[in-house]
Amino acid sequence: MGRILKIVEYSIIIFERTTQLSKLHSRERMRPTLYRLLLSLLLTLSLLEPAAAQSTLRAPDGGQESVGVFSDGHTLVVFAHQDDDVLWMLAFWPVASKFLLAAYPAAPVFQDLVQSFPAELNYRVRWTPIWGSVDNDIWAEVFTDFCKRAPIVNLATIRAHLRPYFAPPIKRVITHNNWGEYGHVQHRLVNIAVRELAVETGLDVWAPGTRVLRDAGGQSRQVHVASELGLPTIEGYFDPKIFRSVREVYQAHRPVASTPELTATFLNWSSTLWTGSHRPEDDRIGWRPFVKLVDRGVDLTAENPAVRRLERDVMVVNDCPTNPALPSP
Ligand SMILES: [Zn+2]
Repeated sequence: MGRILKIVEYSIIIFERTTQLSKLHSRERMRPTLYRLLLSLLLTLSLLEPAAAQSTLRAPDGGQESVGVFSDGHTLVVFAHQDDDVLWMLAFWPVASKFLLAAYPAAPVFQDLVQSFPAELNYRVRWTPIWGSVDNDIWAEVFTDFCKRAPIVNLATIRAHLRPYFAPPIKRVITHNNWGEYGHVQHRLVNIAVRELAVETGLDVWAPGTRVLRDAGGQSRQVHVASELGLPTIEGYFDPKIFRSVREVYQAHRPVASTPELTATFLNWSSTLWTGSHRPEDDRIGWRPFVKLVDRGVDLTAENPAVRRLERDVMVVNDCPTNPALPSP
């Protein structure tokens, strides 16, 4: 789109200069029909090249929501774990001003990872680990353990770490949904913290309008639930090429610490930095629904029975059984 704007700009300059010249030399001025022709040509060109920022987002037929606002550069992507912004929020990568890693600190293994992403994604400069960074050993020792991390990563601390980023010019946040997609306790904690801060600061919040269901064989699949919720809905495109190219980088990174024991702890958590499914990703790519959870500071999910039902039906996973991080409802 930038290229088109430049063409328009240059064309106007050329037109104005031509007009001035013709005035100066008392020649015939550029005829209005020619000007109209030029404008229609530019309009056609601009339609052929949709705005990059908007091409991964669309409003479903008949929807009232406009996706145009997302190209204003005032959108945060807030996710619990490093691969969550690929798995759940990839469609918003082109419009994100920052990627906030919200439910654990970074570590050198993650720094190496994001350095290796394709440069054209412009990821590393936007990547913001809000808990700072710890060394690989501490990460393996503490953050792979549900009960060691529970007193550290909880609602109060996530909210405190996020708060400084909820400030002008930020207007909206993309994050996890109330049921944590498949129930992960830290997805739910990030969701609650984001909604609370958005209510305080008057922002919008959007999240995946999907849930994950497991069949009897333990295979999981994504189910679209947006239409049951009665919330404003848009759709985001998960580009298969980008999804696969980023996943490849994750799968090529094996977590490692400074002792064999801690490396074993790390590998027991995940054999590579990709913690998502290694199966073909048919249900992950293409167009997926996103629902508006908070509208300019008003939590639309507060009295929503369908959201309550999902929060109840989707089982909480990965919390510490003896000292849960998730507050009881
Ligand atoms: Zn996660």
